[in-house]
Amino acid sequence: MNLLITGGAGFIGSNFIHYMLTAHPNDQIINLDLLTYAGNLENLCSVSAHQNYHFIHGNICNKSLIEKIIDQFHIDSIINFAAESHVDRSIDQPGLFVKTNVLGTQILLDAAKKHQFRKYIQISTDEVYGSLDSDGSFTEKSPLAPNSPYAASKASADLLTRAYFKTFGLNINITRCSNNYGPYQFPEKLIPLIITNAIEDQVLPVYGDGAHVRDWIYVSDHCVAIDQVLHHGKPGEIYNIGADHELHNIDLVKHILDQLHKPYDKIKYVSDRPGHDRRYAINTSKIRSDLNWQPQYDFEKGINQTIQWYLKHKTWWKKIKNGAFKDYYNQHYGKA
Ligand code: NAD
Repeated sequence: MNLLITGGAGFIGSNFIHYMLTAHPNDQIINLDLLTYAGNLENLCSVSAHQNYHFIHGNICNKSLIEKIIDQFHIDSIINFAAESHVDRSIDQPGLFVKTNVLGTQILLDAAKKHQFRKYIQISTDEVYGSLDSDGSFTEKSPLAPNSPYAASKASADLLTRAYFKTFGLNINITRCSNNYGPYQFPEKLIPLIITNAIEDQVLPVYGDGAHVRDWIYVSDHCVAIDQVLHHGKPGEIYNIGADHELHNIDLVKHILDQLHKPYDKIKYVSDRPGHDRRYAINTSKIRSDLNWQPQYDFEKGINQTIQWYLKHKTWWKKIKNGAFKDYYNQHYGKA
């Protein structure tokens, strides 16, 4: 396969590239990434010299660049990870999210259609389904009811992807995964934020009452699921991906503190995020039964491995936290 991976310098994309170059070393991987604040080539240092890996710095919205890459590398499939991915930032800058997440997706879909690609995979999120009360879980047939500009942009991209299957017969799949955690996650997201702040004995900001529920999956389990979809996904199908591990945010924070042997006194409840979804939970029986996938990591194992990774890679995250992120953090959590 000659695979175009977009957004491969981000958290999940870089984990996926590491995984693919080990699992399928003969596939050619082209990584197109704009290197926004969230993209980091240090995530890919160890594979940069691999003969089947190539990095291209550029924007998924740049149509002529996409055409050039397809011609040069004989691309036959795309997995679109590229996105603006942080809900808080989407509240400040919805327009950027529409541009990258919606327009960028449409440009990639057009290219995939024009060249009759073997496969187009849209990496999406359970946030497109909106929020749940205390019971139940979303299936792939649940209506879309996104609440944040981020989720709305991802839902829009999903609908466009579906339309390219229905109208043009493009062989697409959409994956909707729950919250990921693991190595190389930018420290604006809850788990790395709490781990790194706790290591540095800083305040630990928790939104609202801390009772929001998220469903957590270790990133390498997500990568294996995408590989299964790439090779065995049925044309036009949507697959939920998750590890059935729901946790209240505050319990997650306390669990991390326990693992790090840190006290709870730095926890600070801060003003809730506007429109903050209360609970996400997804039903993952379809991918488990149709594609014979199941997560290999239980939460204990995954979170321990993640904490160890952040303890061993302080240079990686300190560079980020002492750079441009510092201003964002101070502005955002100024009162924390
Ligand atoms: P991330 O923010 O860590 O990485 C996004 C990457 O996309 C960065 O490398 C960035 O430079 C790149 N990018 C942004 N705009 C671009 C553009 N216009 N052209 C090319 N590259 C661009 O995000 P992530 O957490 O790795 O998420 C990857 C994908 O998975 C996203 O589509 C996200 O919606 C989805 N997803 C994430 C989660 C999660 O828990 N993190 C869960 C489900 C789905």
